[in-house]
Amino acid sequence: MKKKVLITGGAGFLGSHLCDRFLAEGYHVVAMDNLITGDLANIEHLLKDKDFEFHHHDVSKFVHVPGELEYILHFASPASPIDYLKMPIQTMKVGSLGTHNCLGLAKAKGARMLIASTSEVYGDPLVHPQKEDYWGNVNPVGPRGVYDEAKRFQEALTMAYHTFHGLETRIVRIFNTFGPRMRLDDGRVLPAFISQALRGEDLTAFGDGTQTRSFTYVDDLVEGIYRLLLSDYTGPVNLGNPEEITINEFGEEILRLTGSKSKIIYQPLPKDDPKQRKPDISLAKEILDWEPKFSRAEGLKPTLEYFTKKVLG
Ligand code: UDP
Repeated sequence: MKKKVLITGGAGFLGSHLCDRFLAEGYHVVAMDNLITGDLANIEHLLKDKDFEFHHHDVSKFVHVPGELEYILHFASPASPIDYLKMPIQTMKVGSLGTHNCLGLAKAKGARMLIASTSEVYGDPLVHPQKEDYWGNVNPVGPRGVYDEAKRFQEALTMAYHTFHGLETRIVRIFNTFGPRMRLDDGRVLPAFISQALRGEDLTAFGDGTQTRSFTYVDDLVEGIYRLLLSDYTGPVNLGNPEEITINEFGEEILRLTGSKSKIIYQPLPKDDPKQRKPDISLAKEILDWEPKFSRAEGLKPTLEYFTKKVLG
């Protein structure tokens, strides 16, 4: 009998890559998704695998999985700013009720649970780069509060299950990640810039484009998550590529890589948009012996191929 792993959000961008990895590692994978932002196309190639099951279910409602479970990876959530602005209540519910249901299931099964937290717990950070011991600068009632506070609550609840029930838990704080299977219309800067460049439209930089982000290729992130799950560390761990870039520089890079003649144009900065973001990954290096292997340019190659097929057919 293979060990079974439940991946919530399994039809999403990160969830589907995790399904691939756990199948490759010899697990039986149960992917759960309500498909509000996930897409069956991301897991279509797995549906015939006898070690893969898909459950169409909203994890904010009671979760039932028959038999034994080794691990639960809770990755269900709208995750891009325009998604969680469109679905603020679902975002809060999956981070709170959904996490509670998964923790209850983990407790009942004696499973180890890993939650997908985020660099958004640092809000618009006043400390740079961000280390795990920084408590963050979040506006609870701003537009991003629904995501940021759901994730902060998720971390607190997970730690409570760990300390009160002795549950085996892991917390990963994920920084901006990219790769194939990101949704073209999720509004994030990378799919937006790539699809605009490929369509010959101008690239929409928000604000003056001097804000920074640090982009991680998905394979690096999956490797870090896998190592964290198998480690014995229960505190939150940053995973991200510390190579920081301004949105303007990123736009120029996409124009260069696509050979596009488009320009960068400027649109208003969304409220509470973080001015800077860069992970301090010394903890992940020390306890997981992990650091990113893919440069942004290396990761952008397969990503561009994926988006080119989507945009130009
Ligand atoms: N952004 C932009 N143009 C776009 C989409 C996003 O300039 O079409 C900016 C956004 O304001 C932010 C950065 O790019 O400063 C990253 O945004 P994204 O939505 O990808 O993720 P975030 O890191 O803000 O969650």
